[in-house]
Amino acid sequence: MKSIREVHSEGEDWLETHPFERWTLHQDEGYRYGITTTNMGECLNGLYVGLRAMPISSIVLHTFFRTVTWFIERYQAAYQMLNAGIYIPKKITDDMKPWSERAKWHKVTLFSRRDSRFAVVTGSGPDSSKGGNAQTGILDAKNGIRECTCGKLQGRHLPCSHAYAAARSVNLNPLILVSPYYKTPYVVRV
Ligand SMILES: [Zn+2]
Repeated sequence: MKSIREVHSEGEDWLETHPFERWTLHQDEGYRYGITTTNMGECLNGLYVGLRAMPISSIVLHTFFRTVTWFIERYQAAYQMLNAGIYIPKKITDDMKPWSERAKWHKVTLFSRRDSRFAVVTGSGPDSSKGGNAQTGILDAKNGIRECTCGKLQGRHLPCSHAYAAARSVNLNPLILVSPYYKTPYVVRV
């Protein structure tokens, strides 16, 4: 906030009047799964392209039937994936691939094997000059506690590169850190 004040004091005053969880993913306790209000606005804009000039009743009808259709299409796609033995959709595994790759260069120190408390120092890898950041976290599978100081694990409900590295160091499959909401069995049940 101090940095914001240095740049724009009125902006900081405005932000101070709004709860942190309303305008920062970092503070929203994972409720938005990493989706920002801007992302959601863009989705709706895409839906309403070509519809804005129509009567409101037509817009409501179109929105309703389009949403119903999307539910059916996603159900069918998830059902096919599930029958093929795919539990995590390709879109999700593709999104996670860079974090999985980056984790190979991290150095993990384990503090507790019982609840997998860890510290990770990031490595740079062959094609990056970054590295040297330190994060700490906990992967307590038994009690369902999964936290990393980077905040991405809790915010997106997907393993960050630090969680990938920590999980591998204790022979834990990182994919158990993927929220069930992203997995095909859950989508089929919706
Ligand atoms: Zn992390």
